[in-house]
Amino acid sequence: MSKKCSQCDAPATLFYNQTNLCSIHYRVQQMRVCAKRWGKAIPSKEHLVELVAQIVAADMRCQVCGCQMNWLKREGHKTVVTLQHDRSGEFRLICFSCNVKHQFHDGDEFYAAPANSKRCPACKLTKDKGDFYLFASTGKSASTCKLCSRQKTLANYWTNREVRVQSMREYKKKRKAELAAANREYRATHKAERAAYMRAFRAKRRAEQCA
Ligand SMILES: [Zn+2]
Ligand SMILES: [Zn+2]
Ligand SMILES: [Zn+2]
Repeated sequence: MSKKCSQCDAPATLFYNQTNLCSIHYRVQQMRVCAKRWGKAIPSKEHLVELVAQIVAADMRCQVCGCQMNWLKREGHKTVVTLQHDRSGEFRLICFSCNVKHQFHDGDEFYAAPANSKRCPACKLTKDKGDFYLFASTGKSASTCKLCSRQKTLANYWTNREVRVQSMREYKKKRKAELAAANREYRATHKAERAAYMRAFRAKRRAEQCA
């Protein structure tokens, strides 16, 4: 027996707050609840219905990156439809990834940023994706641009240099003492062998000199 959404004729997929809801109405409800929780503006129900109709008409494509969006997080959390609060005060429904990227840009300039670009939070510049290092293990790009990453590495190098030099000095000292102790131990336990070796060595050299 399949239940119907309390807000529309679609079959209910979730049960929330004692109500059966379809995926769309569940997500819309979530957006309103979250906006309220974070003290953000809450769009009217009518406005949300309008926005939902727009993206359904656009085949669930994100209007910014064009990705295929989904209503529920469990269907893909990066492509889930989110409520975007533009700094102009406007609302949009865009994918989670674009929503996050918008946060890193000033104002709403994110929408004007060229495709395949990324903003570096350190120098606050929007750069080409090629200007960011890629992590070989994950294939993901670093959060800061190459220039800023290099500067950070360099800064770390100089702040940590003294510590590293000191620990290297201590290591060498310790290793030297260890080797000396091992040599002493060897000489003490191999006296006869060493004497025999030296005798043989001297005899051989004498024979060579007299040849
Ligand atoms: Zn519904
Ligand atoms: Zn997007
Ligand atoms: Zn940078």
